[in-house]
Amino acid sequence: MSEYAHFHPVGREPSAFTRAFQEEQRRRLPFDDDRDFEEARRGFIARPDYDKIMADAGNVAWDMGRYEFLLEGEDFDSIHPSLQRQAILNMAYGVYEVMEGIYQVRGFDLANLTFVRGATGWVVFDTGTTVETARAAHALVRQHVEDLPVSAVIHSHSHIDHFGGVRGLIDEADVRAGIVPVIVPEGFMEHAVAENVYAGNAMLRRAFFQYGGLMPANPYGHVDQAIGKNTAAGRPSLIQPSLVITDDVEHHTVDGIPMVFHNTPGTEAPAEMNTYLPEKKAFWAAENIVGTIHNIYTLRGALVRDALVWSKKIGEALYLFGKEADVMFASHSWPRWGNDRIQEVIRTQRDAYAHLNNHVLHLANQGVTINEIHNVYRQPESLTKQWAAHSYHGSEEHNSRAVINRYLGYWDANPATLIPLSPRDSAPLYVEMMGGSEPILTKGRALHDEGRYREAQEILNKLVYAEPDNVDAKQLLADVFEQLGYQQESPSVRNSFLAAALELRTGIPEGTVPAVSSPDVLRALTTEMFFDYLAIRMDGSKVGDVAFVANIRHPDSGEELVVELSNATLTTQMGFQSDDATVTIVVDRADFEQVMLGQRSFEELIESGASDVDGDLSGLHRMLASLVEFDLLFELLPGTAAT
Ligand SMILES: [Zn+2]
Repeated sequence: MSEYAHFHPVGREPSAFTRAFQEEQRRRLPFDDDRDFEEARRGFIARPDYDKIMADAGNVAWDMGRYEFLLEGEDFDSIHPSLQRQAILNMAYGVYEVMEGIYQVRGFDLANLTFVRGATGWVVFDTGTTVETARAAHALVRQHVEDLPVSAVIHSHSHIDHFGGVRGLIDEADVRAGIVPVIVPEGFMEHAVAENVYAGNAMLRRAFFQYGGLMPANPYGHVDQAIGKNTAAGRPSLIQPSLVITDDVEHHTVDGIPMVFHNTPGTEAPAEMNTYLPEKKAFWAAENIVGTIHNIYTLRGALVRDALVWSKKIGEALYLFGKEADVMFASHSWPRWGNDRIQEVIRTQRDAYAHLNNHVLHLANQGVTINEIHNVYRQPESLTKQWAAHSYHGSEEHNSRAVINRYLGYWDANPATLIPLSPRDSAPLYVEMMGGSEPILTKGRALHDEGRYREAQEILNKLVYAEPDNVDAKQLLADVFEQLGYQQESPSVRNSFLAAALELRTGIPEGTVPAVSSPDVLRALTTEMFFDYLAIRMDGSKVGDVAFVANIRHPDSGEELVVELSNATLTTQMGFQSDDATVTIVVDRADFEQVMLGQRSFEELIESGASDVDGDLSGLHRMLASLVEFDLLFELLPGTAAT
């Protein structure tokens, strides 16, 4: 038993079954291969003399100290041994030399910040999530390596842990003046804001599960996030880039350093690129090749990714740069040195994504469905022996389902699942037929006590749906989820089980989750996205048969659009004006942004004189009055709201 106490008063120790399972993993997995640890330590220069980085808002933005329990040499039975290994690898904290002229700050955020010595300053590859952590990383490099300003920023892709820190490194005015370039892959700005808009509230809520953001850091709780410890809770930012890489491969010199940019759209992000530094034989693999097999489907919710394209882009990088690179480094995890090792890791990950795609479809073409594939698909034995093929961010289970989802969709082609009852409607029937709650609890407890957790989950889940106030059912399901969580290699899956157990026990936790949005991000929304999102927020049942046709023009941006309300549906068409508009509104996009930022209501803008209105506004007012502010704390499991 661990010397650490569970963070929850009714939290459980790992069962005998869980302990035996972990012991089997310790025997089975290739722990003799500890090259990752050598690589993660290599080049260490200095760690900061603090554990916490404070946010400008006063909260703790980052705290490495809370994971120190991982470094005390204890094998925790509440953590899958492979995950514990990854969680220790991700304890790198400080500034590291990758090679002469290339340095990384690790452990300051989910992502690494990489500083490349240019002719006049630091060229920074990826910025971390927040201004505060980026500023601290730059200060650490100035203190321990060389006191230089940042001369260029390169964002490898459109995820916030790769651009949110930018204002902690550079001034926007220097970008606008052409002094400091900000370089991005094609599609960066669109996707930087797009992914978190339309389903943003649902994604943020679901992230409570995937990221376990409100679970304490503890051997029984949050231990890692696969590609880093966690996400920093500071202020994200975004600066309009000054150079967009549009060709498949482009050559540029950035602050005196020749660079080859390699666009890899449709891999880990819709807009992503690798970079090669030929003079240094250094290959920057963005987030395409890191110390884990990544998400093809990300559990917080996102469009499913393409494992085949991902594999092919890794293969392309192998043939473009991988055969001559002396070092490979990335925006997460640790570098790889020596060409043999680089090729080994590249080929391992190329094959892992390709095998996932090909073998899942191989099975699907023989009738294995989305509801079975996670129990059928397994990596070949040779890949399981290579750490770089292990899934921490992803999992073989949810990624294999994702491949089928991408090609065939969610339906398993059984009509019984085509228009099924909702869980809340089917569950009472099951419970009734099973003889009520008592036999289910008795059987559920027996299954739990035999270590048959997935079977226990099957019937207890029905009971919780049928009786959301049944405390015994919720507590027992929480116990089952907890053991399942302890046994997961992937922290995304572990956190989902453990956070669900926490909510079943004591309701949705309170606290602040890291922001995924900021004024910079909102301002970057396109006009079309803004109106499309209004259409999602509009409660159609409240507008009845109200209708309007609004012509809107933004003189400063040259945009014109027509917005129509009909059939309780709001639609937006960019680039058109209607001949029979019921109202015409002319307003600068710059003024309109105050509405997008929530600094002013639409009504205030219209009344302010900043806009020129001609026609009937009553329909627009009705529409605006029907907008819903989405509540983040909706229930993911029945009976978990405000206990
Ligand atoms: Zn990332």
